[in-house]
Amino acid sequence: MHLGLGSNVGERLQHLERGVLELRREGVHASRLSRVWVGAYVGTGPAQPEYLNAVVEAHTSLAPLDLLARTQSVEARCGRPPGTHLRPRTLDIDILFFGGWIIRNSRLVVPHPRLAARRFVLEPLHDVAGLENPAWPGLAAQLQLLRKQQPLQVYGALRLRPEDREASHA
Ligand code: AMP
Repeated sequence: MHLGLGSNVGERLQHLERGVLELRREGVHASRLSRVWVGAYVGTGPAQPEYLNAVVEAHTSLAPLDLLARTQSVEARCGRPPGTHLRPRTLDIDILFFGGWIIRNSRLVVPHPRLAARRFVLEPLHDVAGLENPAWPGLAAQLQLLRKQQPLQVYGALRLRPEDREASHA
């Protein structure tokens, strides 16, 4: 499964790193981490500060809605107050893909419906997974297009030790 992490408030890199660690405590084990990318806010609503974004490839035994509950509790623990939809946030976690699953209900839509419109999602996804996913064909061509439209740079790397990334079932 692939999660998109974003932060545009405060110590942004630390928020992303803490998110990865907190996810592990919730049974979501990161196996691959993208580079961290930086770019202007893309989306609706009022202007926002620039974002750092990364994608995590992870595995879990949680069902999708349980995973959503855990990602939301990690967002809350990392300081994101309720009601910050479309507002700057310390940590935002999106479920991008859940393997090849297609999920549509009132709480969860997977693949994430806006992933193909966002270079800040596709670049880090490409870092960890390539862009071939049967649940959403054509992402590689889409990224080529977005590279002409949405400026984005590599910011750096998540500073996590190998044991913080790998599954630890001990
Ligand atoms: P946001 O404020 O952009 O993080 O949106 C959060 C809302 O999106 C929550 O109410 C979720 O139930 C809903 N949602 C729907 N699909 C997804 C998804 N794939 N990943 C994360 N949140 C989702």
